[in-house]
Amino acid sequence: MSGITHAIVALALDAGLGFSVATAPAALAGALLPDIDEPESAVSRILLGGRWTIFRVVGLALLAVALVWRGSVVRSPELLAMGLFLVAAALLPHRGVTHSVLGLALVALVLRGLGGSWFLPALLGYGSHLVADLPGSGVPLLWPVPWRVKVPVPRWLAEVSVALAAVAYLGYRGWAPWPFLR
Ligand SMILES: [Zn+2]
Repeated sequence: MSGITHAIVALALDAGLGFSVATAPAALAGALLPDIDEPESAVSRILLGGRWTIFRVVGLALLAVALVWRGSVVRSPELLAMGLFLVAAALLPHRGVTHSVLGLALVALVLRGLGGSWFLPALLGYGSHLVADLPGSGVPLLWPVPWRVKVPVPRWLAEVSVALAAVAYLGYRGWAPWPFLR
């Protein structure tokens, strides 16, 4: 699904579970992060910038190596986990480890290290991304096992219906899709 749909779904989940609007950035970050392995994705463009795709590809690889190196030097499991996650994202095709339970566990380790009230909203945002990507070609939830979990619904149909339902729910709950622009 598109970045905007993942974002809206994560916000709706955040609202539905009773989190405050203040946690919306965490939910959004978690929801967009799995697509860091796709240089044209929203999160790659936001995080890595650059006018050309090659800048984002090289930028991700450099960031991954830097985090692994720094994590090793200061013996930080969180930095190391984030670095390894990004190494896998840089080396593997789109929808690899980033769209799996293993990827979710690595991100959970990083978030736990960061602490604070952002842990659950960010983790739920990440999980919502994996579920939302099930229609169509599906995701390798049990990576490195190559079996893909999928829902036999056309991707466009799932995207439109899920996005409309999430926007309607956010409206019902009084959440603007972009709370900080209200
Ligand atoms: Zn995805």
